[in-house]
Amino acid sequence: MAEILVLVDHANGEVKKVTFELLTLARSLGEASAVWIGPGYEAAADKIAEYGPAKVYVAADAELNDYVAAPKVEVLQQLAAGAGAILVPATAEGKEIAGRLAVRLDSGVLTDVVGVTGDLVAEHSIFGGGVIAHAKVTKGTPIIAVRPNAIALAAQAGSPAVEQVSVALSDAAKAAKITDRVVQEKGERPDLTEASIVVSGGRGVGGAENFKIIEGLADSLGAAVGASRAATDAGWYPHQFQVGQTGKTVSPQLYIAAGISGAIQHRAGMQTSKTIIAINKDPEAPIFELVDYGVVGDLFQVVPQLTEEIGKR
Ligand code: FAD
Repeated sequence: MAEILVLVDHANGEVKKVTFELLTLARSLGEASAVWIGPGYEAAADKIAEYGPAKVYVAADAELNDYVAAPKVEVLQQLAAGAGAILVPATAEGKEIAGRLAVRLDSGVLTDVVGVTGDLVAEHSIFGGGVIAHAKVTKGTPIIAVRPNAIALAAQAGSPAVEQVSVALSDAAKAAKITDRVVQEKGERPDLTEASIVVSGGRGVGGAENFKIIEGLADSLGAAVGASRAATDAGWYPHQFQVGQTGKTVSPQLYIAAGISGAIQHRAGMQTSKTIIAINKDPEAPIFELVDYGVVGDLFQVVPQLTEEIGKR
């Protein structure tokens, strides 16, 4: 069975859920091997073992975390010989790693993948999510960047072999040094890209203070809050929560859009959500073309009623 390498996505001691999704996928494609880069593996070992990798490569040198993306590329490059495929998360960093690695390995890369079959045919979302394409890398080791939340999690407890890896970083890998890290306050809500439910507000919300209505619904569902660009550009909600082509890509089980028209650039970031609900007072709003359930109504009435009903359960 071919070895399928999975880059572990971790930060501040926490392993991101997408890692477990990638391990689940890797097991269906071959023999899964996790690749941990940086210090701190020991604290995460048990959690990683729950998702059944046969092996974990650990490159523990703290210096690997000091530079932007390139050290991870060098570790993966070193491990790539003989691998059947390399899976990385389709996050900003993951996609950068995927591209750089493909150049190093002279192989092909597929990004924004939402599924992969046993013969390594990837289903991926292209042209801002407007088209789903099936594609296969035909040269070298396939490098596949998979969207968070695209793969259904399946645990499979195991006790992986651990192999320490050391890498002598090239000068090129040290070209961009990280000089400072701002750790964002981790709020009560789940990460936007990892959440299984996202409630987003748009221009229809009408102002920063009204976003508490959106937050109220999100909190009643244990959801993350998102926003359209109209809302973030207006300063009503921070840019880090923008969903869309120039914001975050989300693919939750449930996406609720309130006061969002459904412009193509917004859809690009949310249309692979499993179930989509829109609340909009305009029955002609384009968002209704892609929803599973649509509520034509004033969000200032509908959202609080919904929050109240959910609170009763
Ligand atoms: P609008 O289009 O103004 O829609 C507001 C909606 O709210 C309307 O449908 C209206 O009927 C409804 N409404 C108003 N009041 C109420 C009420 N009381 N109750 C219920 N409904 C109500 N946009 C993104 O979102 N993400 C991106 O990443 C992004 N990237 C872009 C990149 C580029 C290069 C460009 C050119 C644009 C990008 N945009 C992006 C902007 C995008 O084109 C739209 O302008 C934006 O998505 C519109 O946001 P909206 O739906 O909130 O606002």
